[in-house]
Amino acid sequence: MSELAFDNLRVRYGTHRSGLTAVDGVDLTVPAGSVVGLVGESGSGKSTLARAAVGLAPVTGGRVLLDGADARRPPAGRRPIQLVFQDPYSSLDPRMTVGASIAEALPRGAYRRRSARRDEVARLLELVGIDAGRAAALPGALSGGQRQRIALARALAGRPEVVIADEITSALDVSVQGSVLNLVRGLQRELGLTMLFISHNLAVVRYVSDYVAVLYLGRIVEVGPAERLLADPQHPYTRELVEAAPSAHGSLLDLPESPVTDAEPGDPHRPPSGCRFHPRCPVGPLVHPDRSICTRVDPAAVAATREHRAACHFAAVAGDTGSAPAAGSEAGAVRGTESPASNSVVRTGFPGTGPDTLD
Ligand code: SF4
Repeated sequence: MSELAFDNLRVRYGTHRSGLTAVDGVDLTVPAGSVVGLVGESGSGKSTLARAAVGLAPVTGGRVLLDGADARRPPAGRRPIQLVFQDPYSSLDPRMTVGASIAEALPRGAYRRRSARRDEVARLLELVGIDAGRAAALPGALSGGQRQRIALARALAGRPEVVIADEITSALDVSVQGSVLNLVRGLQRELGLTMLFISHNLAVVRYVSDYVAVLYLGRIVEVGPAERLLADPQHPYTRELVEAAPSAHGSLLDLPESPVTDAEPGDPHRPPSGCRFHPRCPVGPLVHPDRSICTRVDPAAVAATREHRAACHFAAVAGDTGSAPAAGSEAGAVRGTESPASNSVVRTGFPGTGPDTLD
């Protein structure tokens, strides 16, 4: 399995005036054999990032790397990154049997004999928990959960280095979401897959992920080991997501209601200056007028700890009532410099897998 890395990735649609930068300088590493959960609300750029990785969205800056090589120029006949889409109803050709759909995705020339292709399709079907005898069925005869399993089998048929799962349980009934998540987790462990798992639902992400990255208006605002990030979110936006995530015991954190929870997300056509979250932030200048730094200085260069990082001037105090940072503290130091930050956000740099500095 390979390491997937987004290096200062930028995706922009449209022309200069009406254009929209959907992904703006994202640095993110998915270590080989690990699952990184990418979470964020609708319009944050999650799916655009996924589509850029497989050439379905225009990369206008930065790179997508697979073990350090350009992932968008794979060897002929190979698709080392496979994307599984949200909607299992439109991702399969309704006129093709599921067996034919899977066989179509097998590497070119790898199974020349028909019997070998049939055996491989049967193996893949069983791998995803579908009886091999269903190879002759049309997608219309299958449930949504079964179709999503077929979509996973199709993705695995290409012998990918990396699988990107984009909201693959969102369109499913709640009753079958759990079984598909269990399948994903089992396959990842059994095959050692490198996986980018995208969802708007933090509860879903935490179930399958080793690391979690949080995207807001095209930029990563927090990243870290899943357990640590979810137990102790440093960025106010992550804290709101954690508070909102359903769990068996209600919210993951017992926090007071945010005074700006209902504020509208920023307009991606005109992202706010400084910290993009500042118009909604419950510990930012809306509530604490002395924190005008948030409106002026991009907090991209601010990190919480080596492994767990948050792009926030007040990350260390975001969880409390919001008193000003002490002199000499991280926020104070940033306030002192007030230099314009670079366009890139948190460089993930998971230990042992990539750079460990902030741009
Ligand atoms: S930098 Fe300021 S506005 Fe942005 S998340 Fe931190 S406290 Fe809130």
